Amino acid sequence: MNPFHFSFSSCYFQIMFTAAELGVFDLLRESEEPLTAEAIAEGLGTSHIGMQRLLEACVGLKLLRMEMRDNKGFYGNTALADLYLAKSSPKSQYSDMKFDSELYYPSFQYLADAVREGKNQITSIYESPMKDFFQAIYRSEEGIQLYFGALKNSWILYCREMISEFDLSQFHHICDLGGGSGIFAEEHILSYPNSSVTIFDLPEVVEKAKKNFVALEESQISFQGGDFFKDSVPEADLYILSRILHLWDDEKCMQLLTKLYKACKPGGGVLVIEPVLDEERVKYFGAHFASIKLLVHTDGKTRTPSEHKALLTAAGFKEIQAKHGSVYGALLGRK
Ligand code: SAM
Repeated sequence: MNPFHFSFSSCYFQIMFTAAELGVFDLLRESEEPLTAEAIAEGLGTSHIGMQRLLEACVGLKLLRMEMRDNKGFYGNTALADLYLAKSSPKSQYSDMKFDSELYYPSFQYLADAVREGKNQITSIYESPMKDFFQAIYRSEEGIQLYFGALKNSWILYCREMISEFDLSQFHHICDLGGGSGIFAEEHILSYPNSSVTIFDLPEVVEKAKKNFVALEESQISFQGGDFFKDSVPEADLYILSRILHLWDDEKCMQLLTKLYKACKPGGGVLVIEPVLDEERVKYFGAHFASIKLLVHTDGKTRTPSEHKALLTAAGFKEIQAKHGSVYGALLGRK
């Protein structure tokens, strides 16, 4: 990529997200055949001139394809847009893009300050003082919905893969700490029908998860509200920490892992799932991107497998195994 192209990349995102938000990919997904720019503009209530330019840019980005018929352009989705960008697709990544667009990208204006100071910029990003990232997100109903929509999107793609990284059949009572929407618990029960999962999360999240998110095998899924730094955690054979440790610094991670080691039954374990860096810290751009978001919003960071192993070992866990899937990494430690 030449340097000129670097300044294009945030523009690429905006073009893609705008087309998704306006419903271009959904309209074309529902349509039996390709449509003209006029028909799309009319269907979505936009100007023709603006829609024409957006569609042409989307063709340039290979999100749409265009064919000429009688001197008129007809537009249709590419397979990628149909699967991931239409809101109506079961594998849609729209909520994830919306969260990036509304929360992360605007906050990148504070990235230089975060780099200069080496600390999060929560107090600059939010008008009123906020204790942490979660207090900021959870202060409104829309914030919770937006955050859980985004988390759910990525688990639609990667959850099954992460659960199958290790054979977890010997663990029957699972506690999913910071289990959020409950999607991981649902998938776990589908993979291990003889297990039960307690979702432990902040009380306001547990209330939402109970009502809105978990629809499957409820008898095998229970909930407990609390703060895993302050309150005692439920008894379990296996503790799942999925996308949790990267939110905190090493000291807080040690506090949590030590607590879990004490609560864990002998023979039990902890399963950590994270956007993990490779040992040379050069390979997985997704984990670096996550680390930049974390720098601006939290005291956390992404870590290498060795850094995770060091934390788990210091807390007492043994026989630590690490694996890397297509995007996320998983580590299993035993007591
Ligand atoms: N495990 C889920 C997943 O992988 O999709 C959610 C991960 S989300 C990044 C972090 C979760 O930790 C949120 O659901 C949040 O509410 C929860 N959380 C944050 N602080 C917590 C605390 N002190 N005690 C319990 N849960 C907490």
